Amino acid sequence: MSMNTCDFCAFPFAKWLYLAAERPLVGLVDDEGQGLLLDDDGRWRACATCSSYVDRRDLMDLVEHSLEAMRTAGAPVPTDPEGLAQLGLFMAARYAALTIPGTRKLPL
Ligand SMILES: [Zn+2]
Repeated sequence: MSMNTCDFCAFPFAKWLYLAAERPLVGLVDDEGQGLLLDDDGRWRACATCSSYVDRRDLMDLVEHSLEAMRTAGAPVPTDPEGLAQLGLFMAARYAALTIPGTRKLPL
């Protein structure tokens, strides 16, 4: 993995770094009721394609693009509609931090 891998789709040539104004804190509960709290660092590298989605606040297409990249890479992506919807909502919730005013976009 290069240092400039896109954090959304793993494309190896990210062009931008987004610094979220607020660090997202997203909770996830699995089927057994186990809670998992993700506190990411609020730094997201984005390739040209993904940054265009972020800049348009187009989270749904950003999620779809990320899921497609995960499938292509052979990562486990749910195939049932419910599991897929759950993962999509979770990803959108994380990405939503980038739409908060004050998020900065810096060239890499
Ligand atoms: Zn990307």
